[in-house]
Amino acid sequence: TTTTENRSFEADVSRLLHMMVHSVYSDRDVFLRELISNAADACEKLRYEAIARPELIGEDPRLAITIAADAEAGTLSIADNGIGMTRDEMIEALGTIARSGTRAFMDRVEAAQGKEGAQLIGQFGVGFYSAFMVAGQVEVVSRHAGSEEAWRWSSDGKGEFSVAPAALEEAPARGTRVTLSLLDDAKSYAERWTLERIVKAQSGHVPVPISLVEKPGAEATSLADGAALWTRPKSEIKPEDYADFYRSVAGQYDEPAATIHFRAEGRHEYTALAFVPGGKPFDLFDADRKGRMKLYVKRVFITDEAELLPRYLRFVRGLVDTADLPLNVSREMIQDSPLLGAIKKGVTSRILTDLGKLAEQDGEAFTGIWENFGPVIKEGLYEDFERREQLLGLARFKTTTSGESWRSLKDYVAALKENQTAIYYIAGDDPARIAASPQLEGFRARGIEVLLLSDPVDSFWVSNAPDHDGKPFKSVTQGAADLGLIPLLDGEAKPQLETSAEVTALLSVMKQTLAAEVEDVRASDRLTDSAVCLVATDKGPDRQFERLLSAAGR
Ligand code: ADP
Ligand code: MG
Repeated sequence: TTTTENRSFEADVSRLLHMMVHSVYSDRDVFLRELISNAADACEKLRYEAIARPELIGEDPRLAITIAADAEAGTLSIADNGIGMTRDEMIEALGTIARSGTRAFMDRVEAAQGKEGAQLIGQFGVGFYSAFMVAGQVEVVSRHAGSEEAWRWSSDGKGEFSVAPAALEEAPARGTRVTLSLLDDAKSYAERWTLERIVKAQSGHVPVPISLVEKPGAEATSLADGAALWTRPKSEIKPEDYADFYRSVAGQYDEPAATIHFRAEGRHEYTALAFVPGGKPFDLFDADRKGRMKLYVKRVFITDEAELLPRYLRFVRGLVDTADLPLNVSREMIQDSPLLGAIKKGVTSRILTDLGKLAEQDGEAFTGIWENFGPVIKEGLYEDFERREQLLGLARFKTTTSGESWRSLKDYVAALKENQTAIYYIAGDDPARIAASPQLEGFRARGIEVLLLSDPVDSFWVSNAPDHDGKPFKSVTQGAADLGLIPLLDGEAKPQLETSAEVTALLSVMKQTLAAEVEDVRASDRLTDSAVCLVATDKGPDRQFERLLSAAGR
C-alpha cells in the first residue's frame, strides 16, 4: 500500500488512553522516561541483532538517543538509531497492548478511586501511550535497520491512528523518531531546564547516551553518557545513582527497598546488580510467575527471559552481566548452559543472605519487604527444599500474641512454653476470623503463641514443612492437641475433663447422629469458653488445607 490507512485502536488501548489522560495528571513527567526507555530498548535490540548481522549497524555504529526541542513550535521529539519498526510492527506495537497483566491492572486502577488510582498508574510502566498525557498529536516515523522503506504513524489518541509511507529524507537513516505536538499546558516540556531535570532524575543511567538539541539548528549537548553503571566500582556509586538506575531497569517509580551489587569471581565470572522494589510490581501474581532479570553479555543486552532467579524471587529487578558466554550465543543455548545454573544459584544465595543481614541490621526495612513480598517468598518453602531452612529463617509471622508486629520463628522458639514441643499454627483466609477461632481458646489459656497463617500459599508449605529447629509444625485444628502437659496461665480455670456419665452419654449420642459427617466426637481441653469446635484428624490435611482441596475439586 502507498496510501494512508486509518485504523482503530484495540479497545484496551482506548481504555488505557482515556485513563491516562484523566487520572495521571500530576505525574506527567513519566512520559519522557517511557519514550527514552523505548528508544534505549530499540538500541539494545539492534546491538544484539548486529552480532549476527553486522551490516545492520553499518556505518553508524554509535547508538544514541537524541532529544530535540522546539519551544516556538511547541514540539518535542525523541529519536534513536536503534532497530526501528516495519509497517506491520508499528501497527502491532502502537495499536494494541501486548503486556500481560495490563487489563487486570486497569481494572484495579478503575476500582481504586482518584488519587490512589493515579498512584497505581504511576508505578506501572505506562509505555508509549503515555505520550498522550502531554501531546495532542503524536507522530512516529521509523525505518527498520536494513530496510529501504520508512513509515509514518500518527494519531491524536482519540480512538484512531493512521499509517502511511514516509519519504526517506524525512525519516531517520535508521531507527525511530517520535514527535509530540505538546498540549497548551505542557509546553514547558520543550524547555531545556525541564528536559534536563527529568532526564537526569529518571533516565540518567540508561545504557545508551542521551543528548539534547535545545532548539532547531543548535548543537547537541550531552545529558547522559550511557555508561553501564554496574561496571563501576561500588564505592563510586551514590545511592541516588542506584535509585535512578533501578527506576529505569525496573520500570517502577519508587525507591528500591534493597540494592544488591556484587561481582562473582572464580570459576564463573559475572556481575549482578539486583533490586528489591519499594512497592509491589503490578504483575506479581500473574499466572506465568515470570521474573524480569536481564542478562547481558559484555554489556550487550541479550534477553530478559533467561529466568535468572527462581520464581519465588520474581519481584527482584536488575541484571547480570557476564563475559563467560559468547556474544553470539542464541537465546535457546543460554537456557541449557551450565553457567546459567551457576548464576542462578549464586545470585539467589547472595540475595537471601543479604536479606538475612538486612533483617538483623534493620528490622523495619526488612519487614517492609516482607509485607510486600513475603507471600511470594513463601512459595520457595515448598519449591526450593535446599533453601527451606534459610527461607524459614527469613519468614515473618503474625501470631496470636504479636499484635501489629511481625515475629520470626527464632522469636517463636525462644518463647516456647514449658513442655511445648511443637510450633502451632492456624490457617485460614481471613486474619481476623482465624484469630477469633474457638480452637485457640486452650492455647490462649496457656499463653501459647500460635502462628496466624492467612496467605493462600501458607497451607501448601506448612503441610510440607515437617519441622523447624527440631520442632514440628502443628495445626491447632488438627487432632487432639496435646495441651494437657502444658500448664495453664495463673487464674485460668482447668476445664472439666473427667467424663461423667452424662458427658459419656452425650458423646455417644453425638457420635451416632453425626456418624456420616465426622470421624470422632470427644471431650477436649482445647476449649475454655466455647462448647464445641471442629478439628481435623492428625493424619490427614488440616482444616484450611481440606477447604482448599475441596475448592479445587479434589
Ligand atoms: P513496552 O516498551 O513495555 O513493550 P511500550 O508501550 O513502551 O511497551 O512500547 C510498545 C512497543 O512499541 C515496544 O515493545 C516496541 O515494539 C515498540 N516501540 C516503541 N518505541 C519504539 C522505538 N523507539 N523503536 C522501536 N520500537 C519501538
Ligand atoms: Mg516501553
